[in-house]
Amino acid sequence: MLQTMTQTNRSEPLLPDSEVLRRALASVDPSDLLMTYAYLTHDRDLLERMAPHIRPLFGLEPTAIPDELVEELRSKAFIALTTAGATRGEMPSRELMQRIMSVGMGEQVDDEFVDLLFEQCGFVVPQARKSRVDRTMPPQGFKVLLVGAGLTGLAAGIKLKEAGYDYICVEKNADVAGTWLENVYPGVAVDTPSHFYSYSFHQKADWNHYFPRGEQVRQYLNGVADHYDLRRNIRFESVVTTMAFDEASGLWNVTIRDKNGHAEVVQANAVMVAHGRLNRWSLPDIPGIERFTGPVMHSAGWDRSVDLEGKRIAVIGTGASGAQIVPNVAPDAGKVTVFMRSRYWVMPNPKISGTVPEETKWALANIPGFQQWFRFGIYWNASDGYYQHVLRDPAWPDDAPSVSEVNEQLRQYGLSYMQQKLGHRPELLEKLTPDFPIFSKRMVLDAGWYDALLRDNVEVENDPIAEILPNGIRTRSGAVHEVDVIACATGFNIARMLGDVQVTGRDGRSLNEEWGDDDPRAYLGTTVPGYPNLFLVGGPNTGPNHGAGANLVAEAVINYIVECLDLMVARDAATMEPTEQAYRDWNDKIDDQLTRMIWSHPKANSYYNNSAGRVFLSNPFRLVDLWNWTRKPVEEHFLLGRAQN
Ligand code: NAP
Repeated sequence: MLQTMTQTNRSEPLLPDSEVLRRALASVDPSDLLMTYAYLTHDRDLLERMAPHIRPLFGLEPTAIPDELVEELRSKAFIALTTAGATRGEMPSRELMQRIMSVGMGEQVDDEFVDLLFEQCGFVVPQARKSRVDRTMPPQGFKVLLVGAGLTGLAAGIKLKEAGYDYICVEKNADVAGTWLENVYPGVAVDTPSHFYSYSFHQKADWNHYFPRGEQVRQYLNGVADHYDLRRNIRFESVVTTMAFDEASGLWNVTIRDKNGHAEVVQANAVMVAHGRLNRWSLPDIPGIERFTGPVMHSAGWDRSVDLEGKRIAVIGTGASGAQIVPNVAPDAGKVTVFMRSRYWVMPNPKISGTVPEETKWALANIPGFQQWFRFGIYWNASDGYYQHVLRDPAWPDDAPSVSEVNEQLRQYGLSYMQQKLGHRPELLEKLTPDFPIFSKRMVLDAGWYDALLRDNVEVENDPIAEILPNGIRTRSGAVHEVDVIACATGFNIARMLGDVQVTGRDGRSLNEEWGDDDPRAYLGTTVPGYPNLFLVGGPNTGPNHGAGANLVAEAVINYIVECLDLMVARDAATMEPTEQAYRDWNDKIDDQLTRMIWSHPKANSYYNNSAGRVFLSNPFRLVDLWNWTRKPVEEHFLLGRAQN
């Protein structure tokens, strides 16, 4: 690991005295500034004097730092930054870093988090594998085939390249960015904070919004592809149709079909599936849908040429996509009818629509260490901090709409938010109030959703849809809603994790058959016995469903996969697959842990569960556990083999 303290020349000040620096110091959050200041100066005195006033974000008491301490901090930070030799030039000790983290968050940050935070916040940059002397380089001709060039596929490409692996990436679209290229529905945005929803090794200081718009993420990923020169390895507008393991050679034969229908078989030593979860969609199977005479669009297949002004629009589905579409189409629509099949918990976030002040952007770009500490604060408060909410308290009644004291407190908070927004419309409040625990289904962040539902031209229909007519939608009670356009925000087929790729392993085994429509299982979410050198990114039970972290999980799993490849290379093995025992033990551990999780609550019902009720998507452990388990493969859990010829 390389430390990244930016100051190298202590005879020069870190920054010149400037008005913009003064403004930045005056405007940034004092906790973020304190952590940065202590990191740069190692000043324990101010750290400890401020410590008693900083409280956890979700604690009962708010942070309240006396004004004179904040002033002292700003003034000392200014002096430290503008005076030669006033900062230390090297990273604080691990112990001091951990103390800074704990003080900044107002609660203990345990040692087990520290390595994750060093990497994920960018305090240290892992040494490029290619330059490690203790490592065997991949042999000439060793090839990896990677499927997908979205958020996970691009990260995989970067890490494969950095490790010296030759790879081909196959991408169905004409450009990179996956979900963020495809989803162009009105209001498309992310509900993970911008400064966290980006790679730890490629952070961006100038996000305009605290929560990025879809287009901004697309631009970020586009820039990443350029920066790391990834496009040269990508075959665009091509799809992988089959992957078949060949026992004799120990290679995978991969069929790639290009946009002209031309098929080619490519051989690869290893295959990596990173084609994402949120792109297999179809229009809902509602009787009559094909008879509708107006435009019918899925959220992920939006047609921007459809003029919505003054139109009567039906929006089917009230998950994250529907809750973004409605506020963005309602102002210009004639009428919007929202067809709600089930209720959702909806949470406010004061920054959801906010733009990042220029002073903060400047601090992120210019004050050494500030960006890393800013990201740390987000990780801490958006990720594993929520884990306690998804753990069922065994003493908590099964029939309660919550799973523990802390989960009940959050439910009360959710109810009070609903009351505050919708209390004057009791019939709407009643229609929308969920009866299941918060976190048992993905919650919606309120980016104008409730305000939109309160509009005069928006109606919420919870009577189930019976059929679609040529000019409208009829519900079970017989009511007909005449509409001009139907928008289906009806989600994705997440459980069919292999998508349309047919995967054949040893002895002709078919992974598609073994997993069926919705029952995927793997060892550590990444490998499967009988399918050597097949690696999954975004596989079963790796979903961070208690908080933000899709990017963190992707980076962790990719690290693990590259470590697996390195192990094969170091052992001169042609094949690597988990033992049946390791696979069974892992899945037993998952199933056992899931009995303690909110997603197995009797009222939990979401796309995390398959048709038999099994939770196939959620990682029932903390992100820090997954991160620690994905540092290196446990060699005894794998069979390493030679090719037959
Ligand atoms: P979703 O969460 O699966 O929601 C689909 C909605 O459509 C649900 O309300 C579902 O009802 C309803 N539905 C499905 N089939 C239906 C049918 N035949 N008739 C009536 N209603 C039907 O899908 P999504 O909103 O597209 O979100 C998918 C995932 O994408 C999110 O959970 C998130 O991971 C990601 N996403 C994230 C963001 C963001 O970051 N802000 C934005 C968009 C999407 P039930 O609840 O009853 O199933």
